[in-house]
Amino acid sequence: FNVPIPINEPVKAYAPNSPERTELLKTLKELKQQERDIPMHIGGQEVRTGKTQRIFPPHDHQHTLGFFHEGDASHVQQAIDAALAARTAWAELPWEQRAAIFLKAAELLAGPYRARLNAATMLGQSKNAFQAEIDAACELIDFFRFNVHFMQELYGQQPQSQPGMWNRLEHRPLEGFVFALTPFNFTSIAGNLPTSAALMGNVVVWKPANTQIYSAQVLMELFKEAGVPDGVINLVYVDGPTAGEVIFSHPQFAGIHFTGSTGVFQNIWQTIGQNIKRYKSYPRIVGETGGKDFILAHPSAHAKAVATAITRGAFEYQGQKCSAASRVYLPSNLAAEILGYVKQDLASFKMGDVEDFSNFINAVISEASFDKLAKYIDGAKADSNAEIVAGGGYDKSKGYFIEPTVIVTKDPKYVTMCDELFGPVVTVYIYEEAEFEQTLEVVDTTSPYALTGAIFSQDRYAIELASKKLVQAAGNFYINDKPTGAVVGQQPFGGARASGTNDKAGSLLNLLRWVSPRAIKETF
Ligand code: NAD
Repeated sequence: FNVPIPINEPVKAYAPNSPERTELLKTLKELKQQERDIPMHIGGQEVRTGKTQRIFPPHDHQHTLGFFHEGDASHVQQAIDAALAARTAWAELPWEQRAAIFLKAAELLAGPYRARLNAATMLGQSKNAFQAEIDAACELIDFFRFNVHFMQELYGQQPQSQPGMWNRLEHRPLEGFVFALTPFNFTSIAGNLPTSAALMGNVVVWKPANTQIYSAQVLMELFKEAGVPDGVINLVYVDGPTAGEVIFSHPQFAGIHFTGSTGVFQNIWQTIGQNIKRYKSYPRIVGETGGKDFILAHPSAHAKAVATAITRGAFEYQGQKCSAASRVYLPSNLAAEILGYVKQDLASFKMGDVEDFSNFINAVISEASFDKLAKYIDGAKADSNAEIVAGGGYDKSKGYFIEPTVIVTKDPKYVTMCDELFGPVVTVYIYEEAEFEQTLEVVDTTSPYALTGAIFSQDRYAIELASKKLVQAAGNFYINDKPTGAVVGQQPFGGARASGTNDKAGSLLNLLRWVSPRAIKETF
């Protein structure tokens, strides 16, 4: 068994009349004509409770895509039981066999499942075709292939032996079950969190965000067809606190693989701490959480490059990326020019339905998210410390549409410079050209988060100074590039401070958290 370093899955272009666009449009039409009945999956069985919730596209909230069956605490308990029943056989399966299952999942997704998962992501999470392709298809295919490669690398790292002695490391899975708790914003993350733990021999209870269930269902079908045995990954639709109560009080709770907001993760950590004496082992706590990601331009920066980084970094995916640029620091000598380019770009952005491929901006995920963003925008309109220089409009009559919005503030600690908004709103602070060094301090201390950040400069001393002063301000740091778009195998992803445990998704570092090595010494 020898998996060479994979090549990142090429992104399809979806040009007009291309075979991939034709297939995607056909799949979108088929899905929109159905009302899917969506069960939970526990121990290989489809579980229907009859208590259903409607699923609808965020860009067209009157249309019904289907209904999911909501479970309760008893279903979480059943999922744990099913996982534990499957554990020994799965853990004892040779790792090459587990690898083969996820390599097959990659092939299925690159082929027959691609259009369906992309279409489900477009409809359920309101992403355009290009965003869905990068997220649901390419990034998840990369996670499957690279994780197998990293696993092989990990298993190959063995200690020294000597004549008469054989030393080895056995990378055992954790003792118990892993809880995968996933967010709405990336289908690839929802797919990666349960499968990376499962790849290392763990059994998993998986609870997605309600607003991602439509594509989670397709993922579960993919896992099944790839050969993931019954009970290894169990998918439940239960409200978060109810799921948490059952999971975090179970003695065989062995770890959580979480991506979501900082507040939820902090509560979870506290609950685990309170229950620590109940567990057989210390649980692994892996969480990728919120962000307040920055772009800092030095007075020597290329104005056009900074503007492009702002429009792409802040507004792609409706700003619903943990890495999205949401606070920007511009020097007084370049600010007008950069903001001019940003406004030009925004004038060409179209907003609307995901099926019109010319729309750059789609809807935000939910009414709650819409209302929260509208409130911040209204706050800026009424505040003398802030000025809206582009966008500022919103409309939820058909879908949850927020115009890409640029706020300029005179206060570096203005509320939208600090809070994670998670939408298409970016705030700009203009600093005096001579105060670059002081601004580094402001960037470092304004937000509790430390996920991504970018410095734009043509001055090597300034780049070096920013790299040093901002050493803890971002887990992913970009020089002359936007702070989004990390690629599996190229830029391992994750942040520290309030942004997470920084266990770098899509790298060997993450897989290490899902094993508990046993060192074996044998003498002859
Ligand atoms: P969220 O925290 O609202 O939800 C995440 C998951 O936790 C969902 O499955 C949700 O149902 C569940 N949950 C919510 N409340 C819970 C509770 N009290 N107990 C147990 N479970 C609970 O996050 P979201 O809105 O789905 O995703 C957006 C957030 O995720 C943003 O903060 C974003 O920055 C973050 N995110 C981070 C990364 C990263 O790599 N750092 C990547 C993607 C998203």
